[in-house]
Order: sequence, then structure tokens, then C-alpha cells
Amino acid sequence: MFFKGKIALAPLAGVDESSWEVRFIKSQIEDIYGFEVDVLDRQKMPKSAYDSPPGYNASLLLDYLTAAMPNKYDKIMGVTDSSIYATKEDSSNWAVNGLSYNGGVACVISTHAFGIKKLNGGRYERRLAKASLHELGHTLGLPHCDNTPSCFMTEAREQVKTIDSEEIILCRSCKRLIAFAQN
Ligand SMILES: [Zn+2]
Ligand SMILES: [Zn+2]
Repeated sequence: MFFKGKIALAPLAGVDESSWEVRFIKSQIEDIYGFEVDVLDRQKMPKSAYDSPPGYNASLLLDYLTAAMPNKYDKIMGVTDSSIYATKEDSSNWAVNGLSYNGGVACVISTHAFGIKKLNGGRYERRLAKASLHELGHTLGLPHCDNTPSCFMTEAREQVKTIDSEEIILCRSCKRLIAFAQN
């Protein structure tokens, strides 16, 4: 399928479409990947993704976002402030910062686990940037990166404790993989 280089950013529930978080994620995706990002109107969290307890099922959110994406986009990223969870193979649930499938259409990130917005030294911003760039990277076909510890595609980027290094980079070998996938 022809890659248009257009990403839809979908603010959900408590995330305002004009908030700095949404503008920040948009600019990070545009800077790092060079795609065009449109912010969609804010939507409610879909009831179809709610399981009670423990809350929103990230995998069902991906199904919802995939169906909701207008045709002119390649990928869609949901941004929520609700906590989201994924289900392991043994059917236990655990809270996640984000979810995506390799080569999938949709990804979702949750700001819920990133802590208070007043974190010092730009930590909250970096968590937000790395989580969104990481999940979008998987939808573009990128696996976890073993080449460069500071690359945001390393597996450690999915854990809040290890997400706090200063750099936000996509290493050269990951960049090469993306260029290959888009041809
Ligand atoms: Zn990952
Ligand atoms: Zn890498």
C-alpha cells in the first residue's frame, strides 16, 4: 500500500485537542519521522474498550481506533489520560504506557502512568515523546532495537524507570529499516 506520510492524532476523553501535550506529540512526530500530523477532534473513550475492572483494554482501543481512522491517513495514534491495560498470554492483566502491534494501523499511549506533569527537568515531556515515538515506530514495522541504548525503540523505553534518559533519538539502523519499509 502506498505510504502517504500522514498520521492522525486522536485525543481521547480528558486529553484536550489544543493541550500542549497534544501539540508536543505532534511536533515530536513531525520532527523525528518527518510525517504530517493532523489532530482529530477529541472523542470519548469507547465503551467497547471498557472492561470493569480493571478499566480500558488497550487492545480493544486499537480495534476502535483502526475502525475510526479516516482513509487519508496511514496510521492513527490515540492519546488518553485513562489507565490502560494489556492482557498477557496467561490472561493476567498489566498496566501499560502504550500499545501497538508491529505493522499495525493504530497505536495508543496513556499519560496516566507518567506521573505528575510538574516533574522536573522535562522528564514528563520526555516520557510523553518517547512513548509516542516508540509505539508509532512499531506500527511502522520497527522491532525492539538492540543496537543503540539511547534509541527510543529499545525495549527499556516501555518502562517508566528507564524512560528518563535525556536523549530522544532514533538510531541509524532503525531509520534505515523505516526507509526500507516505506518503499
Ligand atoms: Zn515496544
Ligand atoms: Zn534503534
